[in-house]
Amino acid sequence: MFEQSISTLAKKLRNKDISSVELTRLFLKRIATLDPQLNSFITVSEQQALEQAAAADILLSSGKGSSLTGIPIAHKDLFCTEGTLTTCGSKMLNNFIPPYESTVTSRIQEAGAVMLGKTNMDEFAMGSSNENSFYGAVKNPWNLDMVPGGSSGGSAAAVAAGLVVAATGTDTGGSIRQPASFCGITGLKPTYGRVSRFGMIAYASSLDQGGPMAKSAEDCAHLLQAMAGFDEKDSTSSETPNDDYISNLNTPLTGLKIGLPKEYFGEGLDPKVADIIMTAVKEFEKMGAIVKEISLPNLQLSIPSYYVIAPSEASSNLSRFDGVRFGHRCDDPKDLLDMYNRSRAEGFGTEVQKRIMVGTYALSEGYYDAYYLKAQKIRRLIKEDFVKALSEVDVIMGPVAPTTAFGLGSKTSDPVAMYLEDIYTLSVNLAGIPAMSIPAGFANGMPVGLQVMGNYFAEAKLLNVAHQYQQNTDWHLQTPTMAKGA
Ligand code: GLN
Repeated sequence: MFEQSISTLAKKLRNKDISSVELTRLFLKRIATLDPQLNSFITVSEQQALEQAAAADILLSSGKGSSLTGIPIAHKDLFCTEGTLTTCGSKMLNNFIPPYESTVTSRIQEAGAVMLGKTNMDEFAMGSSNENSFYGAVKNPWNLDMVPGGSSGGSAAAVAAGLVVAATGTDTGGSIRQPASFCGITGLKPTYGRVSRFGMIAYASSLDQGGPMAKSAEDCAHLLQAMAGFDEKDSTSSETPNDDYISNLNTPLTGLKIGLPKEYFGEGLDPKVADIIMTAVKEFEKMGAIVKEISLPNLQLSIPSYYVIAPSEASSNLSRFDGVRFGHRCDDPKDLLDMYNRSRAEGFGTEVQKRIMVGTYALSEGYYDAYYLKAQKIRRLIKEDFVKALSEVDVIMGPVAPTTAFGLGSKTSDPVAMYLEDIYTLSVNLAGIPAMSIPAGFANGMPVGLQVMGNYFAEAKLLNVAHQYQQNTDWHLQTPTMAKGA
């Protein structure tokens, strides 16, 4: 049951082959049995889930509801959920119970999905391995000694291990795609502005974007259908109308033009990962796609520009955590300054503190032009590279990450090695375009994701491309051994 798709489960729920309460109990039991090994949840909201499931069953018996009604899902712990602890993976927020609901979670709730809980993540979404969480590292279900990727590692591990049917994630520089790749699931980072950021705790506001994580592209389409769309509560939300993500899945790919950026296949890429990507591309050729080499010449500059822009925005966004309005407050402060200093020093972990310092430095008088402004100019060049490439091809394909999932602790003392993991994902956020990770094979015993990037608001096209691939391959249907044990 835990391996089935949203549409199959939706049919079973509607036909009363199973009730949502039964399905919810089944997944809650899987969480209780398997999650002690994975640590993919920060909060499991059992009582509330069973209430939502009972309500879904009533709705379904009256013939109402959507394809998500009664389906057990989870949310990354940076979406504010009214009345449910929302920590953002940080000690700073370990007592924060939001008085309001994010737009993403409220839309998914309105669609009738059952929330089983909140998933673990790198603190404030800063990381590529999910080792920066105050609540401990998450383990990869394919090998418990490996990282699941970050920062949406809890969501990826939970979906891969069948603890939920689908989950939400957020992607500032790769945090949906890279954990999806490392855990062998499908993830979509939508166009900037497609999904509302209201109630999503901010990391870098000009880059952050929420999106779906699930086993298949079809399941992602069901989730995106509920999440996407204009929201007057988010001034950067786009008024471009949504496509119908589900009915577009079956369009044939004959004549699809695929661009392969030569810079994505250079030094640093594990040759076994490269082989898998090329095999996947050949599969598309069999379906009638046309492949050509393209160039994204400023790829190398994405790391330095991202690691100036993201920390700069973070330093500004995180200034609100001052121990006054919400979040951790130190004991017995001497005076106001002592309270700010100690609350922030105690509440934020080392990676977050490092980024606040880098960002504050980059924005400071005298350095702003040299760093922040320069990074913004590079960002424009990166965007222009994509605009040019996407005027010649329909989609761009390449690896998601240069390696497969690495060992827990193996890169924690080398920030450069860790930041290099993001080389193929950051530029997508700098440009604001949508991109997916699709399971495409295994190397070193671990899953490998194919990255598919598209033009602004081409989510329906990306989901169509991914779905067609998944009709011809079964990489997305593989289940880790540990998940079969329960
Ligand atoms: N690894 C990148 C970072 O640490 C991206 C994280 C993300 O997308 N949230 O900033």
